[in-house]
Amino acid sequence: MKENILGVQISPLNYEQLISSLLKDIDEKRKAFIVAINPEKIMKAQEDEQLKELLNKATYQIPDGIGVILASRLKGGNIHSRVTGIDLMLKICEAAAKHHKKVFLYGAKPGIAEKAKEELIKQFPGLNIVGVLHGYEKDIDIIRHTINEAKPDIIFVALGSPRQEYWILENMNTLYPMIFQGVGGSFDVISG
Ligand code: UDP
Repeated sequence: MKENILGVQISPLNYEQLISSLLKDIDEKRKAFIVAINPEKIMKAQEDEQLKELLNKATYQIPDGIGVILASRLKGGNIHSRVTGIDLMLKICEAAAKHHKKVFLYGAKPGIAEKAKEELIKQFPGLNIVGVLHGYEKDIDIIRHTINEAKPDIIFVALGSPRQEYWILENMNTLYPMIFQGVGGSFDVISG
């Protein structure tokens, strides 16, 4: 069961449970939206009802940030370990390579997603990254066409927060992927 911290839902699943749930979502064709929750987002959501609703609309709100764990502990809750956005992304890539799921990278400055793609393939041989698109392409028709032609199962969206979360919620139903994760600056980190 999800936990409520100051009105924001948090998923209690650990990495392993998330990966098996996500693989099931793909196989059973259920759309899933992953958002990373840290104390800063919880505080922002206190003054921004629209943001709070958006965060609560995600399928999986992962506890990224030790403050979330501490808040749960103080309440006697059941969230015991951190799940960071970037580590979950890497574990999803590992599982995608193993289970032959296709991945798309959307976001960051021109050239960055390509470099992140190379690094990810080095780290996870056999990973099938079927397309990349930089995050300054804003024409939704071009974006939709590029993604849907590539037929990915999973898309990582790196536009920064909360832009990427609003973008995912607005577009997920007309896009091919089943799994949508907002990953902030992760492509910049992975590309070095
Ligand atoms: N970005 C983008 N399109 C935009 C604005 C930002 O692709 O219109 C990218 C930016 O290049 C960077 C990422 O979004 O790669 C935001 O990273 P940041 O670390 O600021 O995000 P956070 O992790 O704090 O949400």
